[in-house]
Amino acid sequence: MHCPRAQYCLFSLTCPLSYFILLHALSVLLSTHVPPYIYSSATSPFSTQLNLLKQNRNRFSLSPLPSHKHPSKMGARRRSSTKPVQSLKPTKTVSVDEDLTKASDAFPLPLHLSNAVFFTLFFSAVYFLLSHWREKIRTSTPLSVVTFSEIIAILAFVASFIYLLGFFGIDFVQSLILRPQTEVWNAEDDDEVADVLLRKEDARKVPCGQALDCSLPPLPPPAPIVTVQKVLDEKPATVLTEEDEEIIKSVVAGTTPSYSLEPKLGDCKRAAAIRREALQRLTGKSLEGLPLDGFDYESILGQCCEMPVGYVQIPVGIAGPLLINGREYSVPMATTEGCLVASTNRGCKAIHLSGGATSTLLRDGMTRAPVVRFGTAKRAADLKLYLEDPDNFDTLAVVFNRSSRFGRLQGIKCAIAGKNLYLRFTCTTGDAMGMNMVSKGVQNVLDFLQTDFPDMDVMGISGNFCSDKKPAAVNWIEGRGKSVVCEAIIKGDVVRKVLKTTVESLVELNMLKNLTGSAMAGALGGFNAHASNIVTAVYIATGQDPAQNVESSHCITMMEAVNDGKDLHISVTMPSIEVGTVGGGTQLASQSACLNLLGVKGASKESAGANSRMLATVVAGAVLAGELSLMSALAAGQLVKSHMKYNRSNKDVSKASS
Ligand code: ADP
Repeated sequence: MHCPRAQYCLFSLTCPLSYFILLHALSVLLSTHVPPYIYSSATSPFSTQLNLLKQNRNRFSLSPLPSHKHPSKMGARRRSSTKPVQSLKPTKTVSVDEDLTKASDAFPLPLHLSNAVFFTLFFSAVYFLLSHWREKIRTSTPLSVVTFSEIIAILAFVASFIYLLGFFGIDFVQSLILRPQTEVWNAEDDDEVADVLLRKEDARKVPCGQALDCSLPPLPPPAPIVTVQKVLDEKPATVLTEEDEEIIKSVVAGTTPSYSLEPKLGDCKRAAAIRREALQRLTGKSLEGLPLDGFDYESILGQCCEMPVGYVQIPVGIAGPLLINGREYSVPMATTEGCLVASTNRGCKAIHLSGGATSTLLRDGMTRAPVVRFGTAKRAADLKLYLEDPDNFDTLAVVFNRSSRFGRLQGIKCAIAGKNLYLRFTCTTGDAMGMNMVSKGVQNVLDFLQTDFPDMDVMGISGNFCSDKKPAAVNWIEGRGKSVVCEAIIKGDVVRKVLKTTVESLVELNMLKNLTGSAMAGALGGFNAHASNIVTAVYIATGQDPAQNVESSHCITMMEAVNDGKDLHISVTMPSIEVGTVGGGTQLASQSACLNLLGVKGASKESAGANSRMLATVVAGAVLAGELSLMSALAAGQLVKSHMKYNRSNKDVSKASS
């Protein structure tokens, strides 16, 4: 170090380095004071620890917010749901900032003070050493001659450097190495924020119901992506062979029909892989993103889907526990609509805290209505009178019931249109949704009738008077599948503290929106806020026919103040819930798992139909929860706010289902 050039080099290297560290560290220091959704912290041990601290801190910050920031106080009296989106930002920032004031709880000093101390130490030591070395260079004193104060300064420099390197350096290095994955980390941070907000929303401010767990759920596992990767690694991707290549070419050329691959190859997965590749070549469009592996294609053969090329993934969330008829259910919901599960979950909580809901099955009968034609209206009327004569019912029932152990004819209702007659058969179908079953029974009866009515022309086994997968008054009035009414009395306290609104507001809004508003719109069975949201999500999760959400979502939601106006009586009446626990998509692995979660998988061992009826009551209960929560959000003016919290996309939330 006697060489002045070397000393100069050391000096000129140290200075920029110090400034660089200073600038970087300052930026990170500042970033600890902005909400985490603005600053995306990376994965250094310190920042991970910081994240954990933030999460832990949220456990302690569940007490109600100060009144000026409390959502209920902010919006309880508001009726409009058209609050400008921009105005939501301060609310969010305030609430998250409030958390950050406790960030340093686990350190002896507040975090920013610790950083400030080490910064001061670091730069004091650097300044001290540099000024001393400059003096030595000027006086030609060898740098190797070190005084006691210089030793102290060097130690302080090393200590503070290690602290700062540990705190910011690894973060910085990793941010360089992992730059391509920035979005992933951002997304994780976003999830964390959503989680924090969800917990805040979830914080219970009233005594818990016995079966509700008041403690927060455990922290999510730190590295879920690794788990996903592991699963993918365990299932090697399908590899096409030379023989497959030949078949692909013949499919592309049109010499082998795509639909013939399964019977020809005897291997459903291979058939799907070949069809998929042929499709990509024919269309020139990539199917990347649509998974092929990880699905049992044999299970859908001849039952659920023809000519498969992959499968669509839909996330399944859980709402609950939903307490109905004294029993708890965790309700699986397959959806890509943000807020939906969280909202239904909130409704479940309100129901639970109020002692649960009561769900009653009113009727259970699947329908099918063929259309037949005669030469005259008189002949059509003759058949109508014959079918509706109670004396003939037993004979017809025997003929009908031959089709299945479970299908039992309940009645036939006829409607005439000139020479045409519509025969609406209703029957029980055990645990099956029952469309196939009822159709077979109807066919038996039609064959039987041909003897006495040889001039009857069967125009179609389904004449739309059934009515399947179309909005129709006949289902709304007569019912189809399971007819259920579900009710609960929600305590006024729960309405205020969990639903953040008042009984009075809910009753008034229900009258204006679900009853009067729907009447003004000429609604058919649509006297509700969003029954179809819940019905469809539960249907997809449990393997029901999602197209039947049309009539299954028919629902009238009623609200009334009871107990001297203190509490809320809410009910949903749903005349056409079409569900089954055997047949169709219910047998597939994922859907079967969701049915199993509800305790209604497959055929009931106690009595035929008990499982599907139970499922119908759960669907109605989940709709009750969904109605309660969305109506409350609307009454409290929270709809836009909660969509911003959970969706946080740029989409126009005013178009959200309501
Ligand atoms: P769907 O009529 O809903 O289309 P499927 O006809 O595909 O349903 O499935 C019903 C089948 O399941 C019938 O063959 C029926 O015999 C059989 N099955 C077994 N157990 C039951 C049960 N508990 N309830 C109804 N059907 C059952």
